Amino acid sequence: MTTISWIGLGRMGGPMSANLVKAGHDVRGFDLIKQAMVEARSHGVTTCDSIEDVLDGAQVVFTMLPKGEHSRAVYLGDRGVLALAPKNALLIDSSTIDVETAVELHKAAAGAGFDFVDAPVSGGISGAAAGTLTFMVGGETDTVEKAKEFIDPMAGRIVHTGEAGTGQAAKIVNNMMLFISLEACAEGSVLADRLGLDPQVFWDIASVSSGNSWALQTWYPVPGIVDSAAANNNFKATFSAALAAKDAGLALAAGEQTGVDLPAARLAAQRFEQLITEGYENLDCSLIAKYAAPDGKIKGWNPEQA
Ligand code: NAD
Repeated sequence: MTTISWIGLGRMGGPMSANLVKAGHDVRGFDLIKQAMVEARSHGVTTCDSIEDVLDGAQVVFTMLPKGEHSRAVYLGDRGVLALAPKNALLIDSSTIDVETAVELHKAAAGAGFDFVDAPVSGGISGAAAGTLTFMVGGETDTVEKAKEFIDPMAGRIVHTGEAGTGQAAKIVNNMMLFISLEACAEGSVLADRLGLDPQVFWDIASVSSGNSWALQTWYPVPGIVDSAAANNNFKATFSAALAAKDAGLALAAGEQTGVDLPAARLAAQRFEQLITEGYENLDCSLIAKYAAPDGKIKGWNPEQA
């Protein structure tokens, strides 16, 4: 049994940390939101009221935070992980953040005497609950090998992507492709509806045809078709528009740095920004389907109850 500290018990961190409890580890958790701590306790996580407490006795530290700025604050702050964690602790950041910040965290961690990996994930909240996430892990081979033991109870697949920051690079490109697939599902689901197709009949066809994708299987934006879709719950977030806009922005920034033209990603990013402008940043990113409808109306979406 290993003492694992978990910082960030949100939509992903909650179910991921629960799988470490199930694997027999002593998991201590901390989040700024009380409700996240209540839910983590119900999964056997011992919650702590401060970052000092959660890091006490840590052998491994996982972080699952929204953005690069949160990872910076949690690792580099005066009362942060590098200042407070026991020196032999292994540090694993599974948040999706920009490559530059990830590389900076690697350097700062090494400078403070810690082993660190960037280990973002793919698979959504359903993969987090099922323990089938894909982990993309960047860092020194020895450290990645050490990290695998602790990642394993949450993972379907663990891939060593290369040196520091390459886990984040892989994740950013993967998510960019997901958002383009989601835009395809958004447009396709509304067009199929307006052409009078039964949504289940159309989904069954696309599902075994060339229109198939992870987005179609997991996030299809029509209620009553896919269990894990936010469309079943008036677009309550499984992956929020705010996080999708952040990740799409990371891909566009990488495109600018490398001179790669990304028109489809730009469109998806604009759709997520549109949701944020309308005040829907905390709803699911698959709500972009409404922009395909001429009247903004899609099945499963009731703005009055949002
Ligand atoms: P979330 O907003 O549900 O959870 C993030 C949690 O971090 C929140 O509960 C927040 O209170 C907490 N937090 C922020 N700052 C903190 C601090 N200083 N100390 C302690 N807790 C702090 O987000 P999420 O959906 O769980 O996503 C987390 C990360 O995983 C993001 O980087 C996201 O891009 C990535 N991700 C999400 C999904 C998904 O489907 N939701 C899938 C893959 C990757």
